[in-house]
Amino acid sequence: MTKRVYNFYAGPATLPLPVLKKAQEELLDFHGTGMSILEISHRSKEYDAVHKKASELLRDLMGIPSEYKVLWLQGGASTQFFMAPLNLQQAGKPMEYVHTGAWAKKAIKEAKLYGEVKIVASSEDKKFTYIPKNVTFSGNAAFAHITGNETIGGVEWQQWPTVPSGVPLVCDMSSNLMDKVIDVKKFGLIYAGAQKNLGPAGVTVVIVREDLINRVTETVPTMLKYKTHVEKDSLYNTCPCFSIYLCELVLEHLKALGGVSAMEKQNRKKAQLVYDVIDHSNGFYRGVAQPDSRSLMNVTFNLATPELEAKCVEEAKKNGLIGLKGHRDVGGMRASIYNAMSLEGVEKLCAFLQEFQEQNQ
Ligand SMILES: *Cc1c(COP(=O)(O)O)cnc(C)c1O
Repeated sequence: MTKRVYNFYAGPATLPLPVLKKAQEELLDFHGTGMSILEISHRSKEYDAVHKKASELLRDLMGIPSEYKVLWLQGGASTQFFMAPLNLQQAGKPMEYVHTGAWAKKAIKEAKLYGEVKIVASSEDKKFTYIPKNVTFSGNAAFAHITGNETIGGVEWQQWPTVPSGVPLVCDMSSNLMDKVIDVKKFGLIYAGAQKNLGPAGVTVVIVREDLINRVTETVPTMLKYKTHVEKDSLYNTCPCFSIYLCELVLEHLKALGGVSAMEKQNRKKAQLVYDVIDHSNGFYRGVAQPDSRSLMNVTFNLATPELEAKCVEEAKKNGLIGLKGHRDVGGMRASIYNAMSLEGVEKLCAFLQEFQEQNQ
């Protein structure tokens, strides 16, 4: 039997084993074509069925209303950092951002290339350990931007901010797309790199309300207009077929498990287990995020010293628990417990952390 570890990497991240097995089974001969999905045309009817199914499943699972378009693009969420302002900016109107950490910072940097950016709230005063409350955006904003979950800091919006009517809310959901049930109608634009909670690297999901695609000016390059991809159903040029195919398999798997509400239930349970270990450790483990802003997906914590953290990461690895080192920019430890991480994996992690504490305190 293949040896599988529990993979807590932040992204690319663990994928459901049944999905990997199905991809393996189908790899050499895709649906009787005698060819791999890696080898067939993105215009073939076999691939087209996959492409359509992926969008349908995403619509179904997230409850995406008909006035929204689903796009499968390349360039990662990092491309959306500039593509969103490029498409949604409006002359004389500020773009309003909430600054919650490393990913918000990168989004803000790109928006500044295009016009006035207003930071309407920031948690920098406390090293980005919380999500600002009572955020207000002005009615004059071209759009309002938030980062749904800060993958590095481990803070997540628990309640979406309200925006003035007419101001589209834009959200980077790279690391929390489908971690819980959301009302898509609250947003004008949602984007997410797939490699955290949806599938492999190489594809970025964009969900855009159709009235917003016409804001773009004609001088914007064809590939950078949402409009282009909406009109061609994400097949303007060669799409990342294999990545989309894997996303489709993940979505099918998710549906069979009971959809996003079932995931939310399991995610809350998993996160609670890890935060409980932290909270009941008498300070041996210290959670980074303030309790009311804790992420369901990325649990960040510290031990007393970097040396002890390194030891903990090393011993975890020996126990088949991989990828617990915090992001290089912030240090500490991080357990990424996306949809595809099993309850069993989280229970193993918790048992390990408790044992490590007993032996090292
Ligand atoms: C990983 C991540 C990104 C960057 O995604 P790429 O696909 O690597 O460009 C952006 N935002 C968030 C919240 C992320 O977690």
